[in-house]
Amino acid sequence: MRVLSVASECVPFVKTGGLADVVGALPRVMGGQGVDMRVLLPGYPKVKAALGQTREVMEDRTLFGGPGRVLSGTAEGIDLLVLEADHLYGRDGTPYLDAEGEDWVDNPERFAALSWIAARIADEGVSNGAAGGWRPDVLHGHDWQAGFAPYYLKTRGGTVPCIFTVHNIAFHGSAPAGRLGALRLERSHFVQDGGFEFWGRIDALKAGLVWADRITTVSPTYARELTRPEFGAGLDGVIRSRAGDLSGILNGIDTEAWNPARDKALVARYRTPRGKARNRKALRQEFGLPEAPGPLCAVVSRLTQQKGLDLLLDALPALLDKGGQLVLLGTGEAALERAFRAAARRHPGVAVHIGYDEAMAHRIIAGADAILVPSRFEPCGLTQLYALRYGTVPLVALTGGLADTIIPASPAALAARASTGVQVYPLTAETLALRLMDLCGLFSDRDIWRMMQENAMAQPVGWETSAAAYAALYRDLAGTP
Ligand code: ADP
Repeated sequence: MRVLSVASECVPFVKTGGLADVVGALPRVMGGQGVDMRVLLPGYPKVKAALGQTREVMEDRTLFGGPGRVLSGTAEGIDLLVLEADHLYGRDGTPYLDAEGEDWVDNPERFAALSWIAARIADEGVSNGAAGGWRPDVLHGHDWQAGFAPYYLKTRGGTVPCIFTVHNIAFHGSAPAGRLGALRLERSHFVQDGGFEFWGRIDALKAGLVWADRITTVSPTYARELTRPEFGAGLDGVIRSRAGDLSGILNGIDTEAWNPARDKALVARYRTPRGKARNRKALRQEFGLPEAPGPLCAVVSRLTQQKGLDLLLDALPALLDKGGQLVLLGTGEAALERAFRAAARRHPGVAVHIGYDEAMAHRIIAGADAILVPSRFEPCGLTQLYALRYGTVPLVALTGGLADTIIPASPAALAARASTGVQVYPLTAETLALRLMDLCGLFSDRDIWRMMQENAMAQPVGWETSAAAYAALYRDLAGTP
């Protein structure tokens, strides 16, 4: 079984969010399922630099404004197909933004090109010289950057089945209608019903939803949520019309990189919750926080509206009054960065680091007692999964993958000694404040808290179950038993 995975990000080469973690994890875990997966990525400078020996396996002289070619190689154990096209990807910095932080104006062309090449590889296969050819049985596209891959494939008469995975429906890959020709899209498909038109614009995400054979997203709850107007970002109608082809498969985490027993980023590695104490002490020292009677809570997050951290700012006094503390690591919207910095100046129990720091994220998740994820929506969420593995109790909004991965501290679940965390519903500053107080209450009961920590650490957060689910989907689509 051969699968071509197409995305604009892949750990460890290029990452702006959880999408990259999933795209990087899949090839490794699918190997164990007998799936030969190759990942097609744009040839950003960082991706090209990671490649060792390569072989040119496809050429395209007229690739949306310049020449392109596909290089085949292996890096970090992942079989890559890298689309080298310097007029599109030969730029430093993040994959999507220019030096001013604006979207590159040619983003539609840049990712149309990626999708175009994905369709060509799926339809024609690539030549691998002496190694023979390679052609996928299934094309698996991720998010809007791969949205047109199923479209280009189907409209050129290709028969390889396509899966399209929505990691976050908030990003559409929108372009003005005037770019139809430039993006090699047919005017007859620029329609609302059964086409890729969305409020008068071209929408790459919608194309993926309409032309793929199956749609997946990264948790069962998010799959259901996407059919509702509150979560569907205007595409809930399209998704409802495809409900029979839609499923949710939870993301796993890399349990090697996130393993408290072997994590080199920690001052003390541990196998039981008891081992967290030294990490907690070191974390307080690192952030200049005094000892405190309540839980040391953490946030590791992009600072955006999605993450609900404005509500946390309002609810913070409830935590601090109970002797709790907050450590926040994050970067994003300037107003949120400012507000958290101000909170840290006002309250001795709040410490903030504005920035992106992978090792610090490990130290925080190991040292904190609880992690706070009050997202307004969360397709899957990774930090609550890391937290479970590190015996750090998650407090989460009841949405998306957060709802699927935490067993709440409800009376029934507590009585059954099954709880792993605290759920907030409905998500308002007031209920968040109440649940933070509940968290402090749970923390002060040593027996209950230890039980929740142990339950958390025992949760299966790796890829085993989900890898089998993807493999079953691939086989089903490709018609192989
Ligand atoms: P999203 O993809 O919406 O950002 P996820 O929870 O799915 O949310 O994934 C976020 C990933 O980015 C996690 O691996 C998290 O640890 C990491 N992350 C987010 N912000 C930071 C930061 N400031 N420093 C280090 N890691 C971060």
